[in-house]
Amino acid sequence: MNVTGIHHVTAITADAQKNIDFYCGVLGLRLVKLTVNFDDPSSYHLYYGDELGRPGTILTFFAWPGAPRGIIGPPQVAATSFAVPQNALDFWRERLTQKGVTPGPAVTRFGEALLSFTDPDGMRLEIVAADKPDGHAWAAGPVPVEHAIRGFHGITLSEEGYENTASLLTEVMGFKAEGNDNNRFRFRAGAGEGLASVVDVLCAPDAPRGGLGAGTVHHVAYRTSDDPQQLAWRKELVRLKFNVSPVMDRFYFHSIYFREPGGVLFEIATDNPGFTTDEPAEELGTTLKLPPQLEPYRAQIERVVPPVRLPAGGVVGRAH
Ligand code: ZN
Repeated sequence: MNVTGIHHVTAITADAQKNIDFYCGVLGLRLVKLTVNFDDPSSYHLYYGDELGRPGTILTFFAWPGAPRGIIGPPQVAATSFAVPQNALDFWRERLTQKGVTPGPAVTRFGEALLSFTDPDGMRLEIVAADKPDGHAWAAGPVPVEHAIRGFHGITLSEEGYENTASLLTEVMGFKAEGNDNNRFRFRAGAGEGLASVVDVLCAPDAPRGGLGAGTVHHVAYRTSDDPQQLAWRKELVRLKFNVSPVMDRFYFHSIYFREPGGVLFEIATDNPGFTTDEPAEELGTTLKLPPQLEPYRAQIERVVPPVRLPAGGVVGRAH
C-alpha cells in the first residue's frame, strides 16, 4: 500500500478574481472547476490544473474575501513547486518579470534549477526545471505548451522537527528517503509517476510558527487509487493511533484527513470520479457548479459570492 504522489494542494486566497487572473493569466493553468466551499457555501472553492485537472496537477483555493495574510512557518506546507521542461526557466523568468512578479535568483536544489516567487496573496511558489516532466499541459492557455507547467513537482513541509514526519512518509506511506541538503530532507513517492512525487521536509525549529490565513496552504492531499484502498488507509492510520476523519464526499473525489506528527493537515484522496463528473471536459470551469445538496440554494449563493470574470469569458455572481 503506497500513495502514488500528491493529489492536490489547497491554499487560501483573499481575492478570487486576482487569484484567477494570476493562476490562469500568468501561470497558464486551467480553471477546471468553480464551485463553493461545501462547508461554507457563501465562499468560492477554485480548482486549477491541467486540461482535465488530473491528480498531481490540482491546486485549489478557498476564497475568503479580505482574509488577513497568514504567516508561513512550521508546521505548514511552506512552498509549492510546479514542474516545467528542462529548458523553460529563462522563458519563465522573463514572463514573470513582464507580469510584475519578481522571481528570486535561480538556485539549484538536488541537481535541479528552480525559480522562487510569490502569488498575489504572498503564497510561496517554485518553478522547477524537471528532468523529463510527464503530464499534459493546458494547451489552450496563454503559455506556449513547450514551456507550460506540467503539474506539481512537489511540496516543502516546514517542520519544527523531522524524524516522526520522515517515519510516516517512509514507513507508512511508501516514500523513499533521497538524502538531505543541510536541513532539507527529500522524500519521493515510491510508486510515483515522476510528476508530483517529491516531498521535502525542511527542519526549521527556529522559524516563527506559522498561522493560517491568505497566502498559506491549508492542507496537502495524497493520491489513492480507489475507495477500498482509501478504507484500508483509514484502518491502518487508525491502528497507528492517528485520529482520522470519516470518509468525506468532496464530489470530485473522496477524502480522509489526519494530522501528521509535525502538525500539518494531510488528506488522502481518491483519483475518481474527477472533474468531468458534472460537466464535459471542454466546458470545465466555465460556470459555477454546485453539488446536488446545494443546487436548491443556487439563487441565494449567486447573490452572496463576489462577482468574478472567468478565463473563458462570462461573469459569475452578481454585483452587490
Ligand atoms: Zn483537499
